[in-house]
Amino acid sequence: MIKAPRGTVDILPEQSKKWQELEQLIRSICSYYNVQEIRTPIFEHTELFVRSVGETTDVVNKEMYTFADKKGRSMTLRPEGTAGVARSYIENKLYALPEKVQKLFYMGPMFRYERPQSGRQRQFHQFGVEMLGIESPYLDVECMVMAITLVDTLGIQNVKLHVNSLGDEQSRQNYKEVLMAHFEPSLNELCSDCQNRYATNPLRILDCKVDKSHPVMANAPRTIDYLTDGAKAHFDKVCALLDDLEIEYVVDPSLVRGLDYYNHTVFEIISDDPRLGNGATLGGGGRYNGLIGELGGQDSAGVGFAFGLERMMIAIGDELGDDDGLDVYVMPLGEAALDLAVQIAAMLRANGFKTDLDYQQRSMKGQFKSVDRFNAKFALILGESELAKEVVIVKNNATKQQSEVDLGDIVKYLENEIAAGEHHHE
Ligand code: AMP
Repeated sequence: MIKAPRGTVDILPEQSKKWQELEQLIRSICSYYNVQEIRTPIFEHTELFVRSVGETTDVVNKEMYTFADKKGRSMTLRPEGTAGVARSYIENKLYALPEKVQKLFYMGPMFRYERPQSGRQRQFHQFGVEMLGIESPYLDVECMVMAITLVDTLGIQNVKLHVNSLGDEQSRQNYKEVLMAHFEPSLNELCSDCQNRYATNPLRILDCKVDKSHPVMANAPRTIDYLTDGAKAHFDKVCALLDDLEIEYVVDPSLVRGLDYYNHTVFEIISDDPRLGNGATLGGGGRYNGLIGELGGQDSAGVGFAFGLERMMIAIGDELGDDDGLDVYVMPLGEAALDLAVQIAAMLRANGFKTDLDYQQRSMKGQFKSVDRFNAKFALILGESELAKEVVIVKNNATKQQSEVDLGDIVKYLENEIAAGEHHHE
């Protein structure tokens, strides 16, 4: 028996309704912010992720699905969405469009070779937003507001917005030196990964899951204490704007994020929903001013965020996913009725009714079970005597009333019944 690969799941029809609703809601929020969809390839040249996400990150080092294609080129299934969007922005010269600020979103599967657990898969889905073209703290804040609006609209409670600043290049350089001096005396007490990180990317030590309780972590220097004047002004403006908009947030100096391309503002939306495990991150993002330049484009600013859809699904619980059901289920009784039932179903579908019918010549009782399972508003019963009289029996599943209706009058009859039902509801 061939099973789905470890860390992947099938989204079965029972859950896909909830997925569609979540996706629909996301699309609708994007339209309110004038954020347009971009669809980039699921695989890219490996080098794209190495150069953007960063050579020393866990994502690139340990988690990528990398393969050689038939010509021996190294390809990678995308582990995140920003790199592909940035590549596309450069390749398609979106920076040269008359509208300098490009607000883009993507939604789709991502791939990371991680240890599967609740809210962590090897194929998972992200929704992400990128705002490219100008460096403005207003856009950092628009991203955060959008992210908060999304979780609020979904009714997800007990979330906190954590914010930090990594500063500009000079701030990071200053900070890096202080950080290395801080860790040096206790380096041999840290894990081997951290010892490597010390040489390659000391900021990553702050993100370590193994050493997170070591005392040297708690009193580590904080990025926000080493910002240049310019970087500090950017961060102060971000905080002031959040205050003006009355968005609650906490400045979290330990927030450094797992990917290399961030600078200035970084943020995360953290939930304390126990179903997600403690302190689970629903989504996060930040500013990445160097990224477009790093990928060979004209230097250009960007800010964005991404949410994990599986984690949102867990946090949403049973809020979404109601099934509106079918309009009509056609019930042919006996072989002779099936041909006419097919005609009626085709006519109903063409008139905009969600319709299905029985192809198995089941008993009346069996067919009524399907009427209930599909939550059909109407059952159209077509037995031998109805066939002879050229009528159907229409049963309204809400009122349980039955009427004989001429074949030519079915659509008009159903429309009247639906209108009457809606009237009744008001
Ligand atoms: P990142 O791109 O690492 O900043 O991740 C952004 C969001 O994607 C996280 O906050 C999670 O909600 C989600 N995410 C990341 N990795 C996984 C994974 N392996 N499985 C499920 N969701 C994930």
